[in-house]
Amino acid sequence: AAGLDAVRLSHRFADALPELARPWRAQEAPQPQLLVLDEQVAGELGLDAAWLRSPEGARFLAGNAVPPGAEPVAQCYAGHQFGGYSPRLGDGRALLLGEIGDRGTPGGLRDLHLKGSGRTPFARGGDGLAAVGPMLREHVMSLAMHALGVPTTRSLAVVATGAAVQREQPLPGAVLARVAASHLRVGSFQYARATDDLDLLERLVQHAIERHHPQAADAENPALALFEAVVAAQARLVARWMLVGFVHGVMNTDNMTISGETIDYGPCAFLDGFDPATVFSSIDEGGRYAYGNQPGIAAWNLARLAETLVPLVAETQEEAVELLTGRLGGFQTGFGVAWTDGVRAKLGLAPAGEGGPDDAEVQALADGLLALLREAHADWTGSWRALGAAARGDAEPLRSRVVDLAGVDAWLERWRAHHPDAARTEAANPVYIPRNHLVEEALDAATEGDLGPVERLLAVLADPFTERPGLEAYAEPAPESFGQHVTYC
Ligand code: AMP
Ligand code: MG
Ligand code: MG
Repeated sequence: AAGLDAVRLSHRFADALPELARPWRAQEAPQPQLLVLDEQVAGELGLDAAWLRSPEGARFLAGNAVPPGAEPVAQCYAGHQFGGYSPRLGDGRALLLGEIGDRGTPGGLRDLHLKGSGRTPFARGGDGLAAVGPMLREHVMSLAMHALGVPTTRSLAVVATGAAVQREQPLPGAVLARVAASHLRVGSFQYARATDDLDLLERLVQHAIERHHPQAADAENPALALFEAVVAAQARLVARWMLVGFVHGVMNTDNMTISGETIDYGPCAFLDGFDPATVFSSIDEGGRYAYGNQPGIAAWNLARLAETLVPLVAETQEEAVELLTGRLGGFQTGFGVAWTDGVRAKLGLAPAGEGGPDDAEVQALADGLLALLREAHADWTGSWRALGAAARGDAEPLRSRVVDLAGVDAWLERWRAHHPDAARTEAANPVYIPRNHLVEEALDAATEGDLGPVERLLAVLADPFTERPGLEAYAEPAPESFGQHVTYC
């Protein structure tokens, strides 16, 4: 079945947590026009791709044709932004259309959410709108992350609204249809806790458990078990970011999910030349969210989540703090395991139980390689990928990227002693990532009305590990002339 009537959206969040939901409608888009559609995501949600491409489909994706029974809401949350607490943020330019059935998620539901759909009660000084460039950027980046195996919210589609958005200059407006396991954030818990309504907090915990961490429901202490599960999910997530060289750029507590999916592709970018201090965002002047700071910031954000759960975890505050602090320690452990496992794969080495080196040796090899790459400011993605050739006996692609040739030769000898496998390393190290200069070029073209570069980029990024002839330009870092990449959100 196709058509608006065939779309079934539930309103579980709004029903369970009305205090966190304001019924709202999207602003009318004068001329909605589909720019990109992810047919795989549509299929996962049981939505008919041909219908989504129709005029009614575009009106649905812009938020103007609301399926019968749906109750769109703007969600309310708080958050620490760059370390400072804002008691009331919320969806200033976004709407939760509702939840849609998905057999792949634990709770069986995924959120369908619009970004750029007009002002809401949480818009503060903002215009509630989004431009084509940044919404396509989220579409491209989230597709790339998914293809790289990193948990992430997805983009179903981007629709141009036909209206202009005033930024430094007028830009074409757009709405992104985002799909997420949910939009529950650390900031949702901060908001609920700040109301002092423990019944609300309890319902939020229960909703989060049902949607994301159902095993916590059977625990003796469900709120504590939920916390433990979120810590584990975030530790795995941030390790994946570090392994692919992803810099989120705005790790505020309102941009950290309870599900463990990456959310909010604003000022994010991928490393090129390796330096842990790398920052791309124009607003991150202190480097708070630099590449190398991400694990520490994630743990800091999780400590903010822990604080919200204190009244639910134990009778006394002392006891609750002790329990939560203990579980927060799981971040280091979980991150360490995920990082070491990931680095082992990137190095093309077998598990310790199957003849590979122990974890300490893997970490020592990683430290050695990272020092060489850092010294040379070598391209992160290209250098790791060069291990494939090195495992086949051709070390030149790696040697040509570093400055300390004696150092790299000694490193290669130590590494080769563990019998690295070329196929194994190439399965863990992508050829193609969203190169900053190519993303910018493609978005500029799209803003001018030419979607060709975005479509070609999406096709490359959908299959990042398979090297294909003719795509050399997609594997190269930016030319010198591109300069230092800066992102704006
Ligand atoms: P972010 O830093 O992208 O996570 O956004 C922080 C907050 O600003 C959220 O509450 C957003 O909804 C809000 N916001 C961002 N851009 C706009 C806009 N153009 N209009 C209204 N609210 C916005
Ligand atoms: Mg956000
Ligand atoms: Mg944002």
